[in-house]
Parts: sequence; structure tokens; C-alpha cells
Amino acid sequence: MVLPAAVVAADSKKVVEVSGELRVSIEEDEQVFLSARPLPGEALDAFARRFTDDPATKKEILAGNAGMNLMRKDVFVRVPYRLLSDNYRRIAMEALFPGDRGDAKGWIHVVTAPAGHPESLWRIAEWFTGDGSNYRSIREEGQIAALPTESGEAVRIPARLLLPAFRSAAADAATASAPESLLEFGQDEKGRYALYRLKRGEALYSSVVIRFTGRLHAEDVRAKAEEIAARNGITDVRAIPAGFAVKIPVEDLAPEFRPADDPARIAEEKSRLEAQQFVNRVRAADLSGVTFVLDAGHGGRDIGASVDGVEEARYVYDLASRVQALLSEHTKAQVVATVQGKGTCRRLADAVSDTRAARVLTHPPYPLDDAVAGVNLRWYLANAVLRSVERQGGSEDRTVFVSLHADSLHPAVRGLMVYIPGERFLRNAFRKNGAVYSSRREVREAPKVSFSRRERIKAEGISRDLAEKIVRAFRAAELPLHAYQPIRANVIRGGREWVPAILRYNRIPARVLVEVCNLNNPEDRKLLVTRAYRDRVAQALVSALVSFYGGGPDRTLRASLK
Ligand SMILES: [Zn+2]
Repeated sequence: MVLPAAVVAADSKKVVEVSGELRVSIEEDEQVFLSARPLPGEALDAFARRFTDDPATKKEILAGNAGMNLMRKDVFVRVPYRLLSDNYRRIAMEALFPGDRGDAKGWIHVVTAPAGHPESLWRIAEWFTGDGSNYRSIREEGQIAALPTESGEAVRIPARLLLPAFRSAAADAATASAPESLLEFGQDEKGRYALYRLKRGEALYSSVVIRFTGRLHAEDVRAKAEEIAARNGITDVRAIPAGFAVKIPVEDLAPEFRPADDPARIAEEKSRLEAQQFVNRVRAADLSGVTFVLDAGHGGRDIGASVDGVEEARYVYDLASRVQALLSEHTKAQVVATVQGKGTCRRLADAVSDTRAARVLTHPPYPLDDAVAGVNLRWYLANAVLRSVERQGGSEDRTVFVSLHADSLHPAVRGLMVYIPGERFLRNAFRKNGAVYSSRREVREAPKVSFSRRERIKAEGISRDLAEKIVRAFRAAELPLHAYQPIRANVIRGGREWVPAILRYNRIPARVLVEVCNLNNPEDRKLLVTRAYRDRVAQALVSALVSFYGGGPDRTLRASLK
């Protein structure tokens, strides 16, 4: 790796490449720097704002890069750690210390001596809490005997002392499962495997296949469970004793569960870290100036999933109407629906209206005769909304797209799942041909869609930020959510992986597909048919949107639904 002069200028002991444009380095004296290449046409003010949230830091950035010809796209500009925004501090620390993690009580930092000697407690306190003198509390609470640290030592920084970005990571980790410690890796004549010991009451389907392999659809889960059973000599998958150690082939594991040196895991962590720099920075607690494109999935002839007479299209349309009503009562967001049905939502009723007459609101509208054309016309419509926002001086950062669905997965899965556009699935340029498309204004205006690399990374990062807000809002409202991985960057089904078309060709950066629940799960189904549940989901979605734009929980909003 050949690094431009600016990056290796001083005595960098370790340099981590986050992306082609972004590097993190640490020097002998434990000073940490982030080095980045400016975007085309980016001035120093904008650069300083991007990395430090404060244009006033530009003087210091200039001083620290003395003698350099700044703001050329081939020159890396160094920014000292203490000037970085909270978000970039976390990116820098995660790049330098990939073994660190959050837990229920705080952040665990593993000493790895990247500067050539073990990092001091003072530095650790400074990096993670913003104040070196916090080393005393860290030492006391962690009952750390010796002041000098040793390589491999795990230092816990209590949650209350952490900078917000590390604190929220710790909180998320605390509520998610901590899988790594559950798996041991080994090898036998059939290849590399991860060993998982079943606990009492755990089944192969849910506790192994759904949890560790990422499969969710009933047919995939069953097929993979059969394969794993056969590898382990299990003849009856329903009668596996507690404590049985199941061997799961490493190639079946989702990347995040693989060994730390696995190429798929390394690739995933790298792209995660790169995408992490894109979070929403726009603040608009009342959502003024925000355009919210709301897509109720399916409609017309396409009823979506249907289980025991519960039709997905009708329930998600009702839910969308509730979201729309709450937004117009409590916020200043402008809501653009992609689909319109005939009936109106009766807010106090459990029953939902018919959506057979639903149309996609293109010009002219599309009566949803064909589900695939229906989906394509929705993203064309979303892209047209974004163009119109930008024509009127608005910004893509004040535009959000949410598509509402209810899933039909293996019955053991329940609760919310949010899909985001995984960067690696957005590669190609794309267009649709045929009269159903060319007859519509939204398509004629811009028939072809493609993304730059930066746009793809931004979409994944900012959509994950939105998805995290949705997951937190569901958790706060005690609504069911998927037990293991409620946010996913792609669908896995029938041996293939992809991003749903509604997200794949959509140009609104913050875009998610929300599966509010799993219709094949009897408990989820029972909830969805009640208006009380749909109100709580609508409320959670609105709070998520408000918090995405920097607002806190809205009392009026909460009270309105009591
Ligand atoms: Zn659906």
C-alpha cells in the first residue's frame, strides 16, 4: 500500500484504511488522526463541518497540515482526534481497535498497543469519554489493580462516562444477542465449523438456523436444518437433547458470526465502517422541510402475503393511513403517498378497508394490474419526488422513503425487520422499457438510474441510521422485533441474495423497507388485526422519524394514543 505523504508524514505506527478516501492513524505518542481526501469542489469550511461538525476548527486543521496544498482531491488532510465529531471518533476507534465492543454496562476496550506500547488508561479515558482524568473512575469501577495496562487486557469504560456515539453502541449491544462468545470454531474431516451448544428448550430451526445462518423463509430454514442435522448425525430434529453441541459449517454462517479472520467477515466489517460515516446531520425536530415518501406495499390485484384471511396489502395500507394522520397532526412533514386506495381509514376500528382499487400515484396513475410493474413505478415515483424536492431548493437529506410490509417467514420468526440497501447490491445502471413505463411522466423524465460509489455507501449508512431509530422506537414501545438481527442489508432466499427492487433503484438516500411483523407467526397475526397494535406501530414509526431528525419523544404524540 503506497500512502500519500500527508498520511505517513509523522511517525505513524499504525495506519488503517477505512476506504480509498479515509484513513485512521496512530503515532508513537498515541495521537490519533483521521486523514481524508476532500470531495470534488469541497471547500475547507465544508470539509471541517463534515468531520468535526464545526467549521471553526478549520484554523486548527490548517495549522496541523502546514505547508500543504490543501483541498486538492489527491491530498489527504489530517484531522486530530479531539476535533472529530462524535461519529467520526467512533469510526476512528473502531478502525484502530476492531476487537472493541459494547455490552450492557458500557464499552469494552481491548488493549492492543498499536502505538508500539500498551495504551495508557489516561488515553483510553480521553478517547472514549472525552476527558483523560476519567481514568480514575474507570480504574475504580473496573477494579483495575495496576495503572500500566497490558496487551490483551480488557478495560471497561462505564456507560455513564462514554461519549454519546459509544454509549449508543453499548446500548444496542446490550439489547442484541452477543453471539461471538457462544460459538467455538473447529475443524474436522468435513471442514471448518462453528460449535453451538443447544440450551434447554432451544430448537435447531430458530436457535441455530435462523439465528446464525441468516435464513428466514420457511423452505430455506427447513432445508438448512436438514443439512445441519445430517452433518451432525441427528435423525430427529425435534428431539435433540439440551447441551447437544451442533456443528455449523462456517460457510453457512452469516458473515458477522464467522471467525475474525474470515474474508467475508472482514469485507462486511470494512463496508460497515465505511458506511458508518454517513448519519443524518439535519436537525428538524418538528420535521419542517422534511418530505416523507410513504409506500404502502402491494394493493390492487396484488394482495401480498395472505394467511388465515389476513391480507398484507389491506393491513399495511391501514397502517400507512395511520402514520400519515399522525404526521399531519403532530409534525410539519410533507407526506407523499405512493399509493391511494378507495376507502378511508376508520381510526377507531379494528376492521380495515379494501385495497383492490388501489393505484400507484404516477401520472397517469397505475391501477396495479401487475405487482412487478407496481413496484417499479413506485421507485420511479419516489425518484420523481426527490427531483421535485431538489428543484424547489430542498435537499435529499430532508427526504425519507419508507415502504411498509408484513412478512411471511418461518413461523418461529416474529416481529419487526427492517431492510436497508446493502451497498454491494446497487451496482448496475438500470432502466425499464415497455408501454406501461414509457406512458408515465415520472419514467419519461428519468428512465435510467445509476449510482456512484459514494452514493451507494451513503445510502447504506444513512438508511442504517434510520433503521436503528426505527428499531429503538419499537423497542421503547415494547413492540415485538426480530430476536437476532432486526436490520438487514439484503434478503437471503433460495440460495440467492438481493436488495428488494423498491430500495435497489430508489434514489432517496434514507430508504427502508419495514416488515412490521411476520404474518406466518400466529401471535404477530393476532396483533396486526387490532387497531391498538397498528396505532402503536404507527406511533413508533413517527417517533423514529422525529428522532432521526434530532427530536425527542413528543409528549402530545404519546398522549394522543393513550
Ligand atoms: Zn410485502
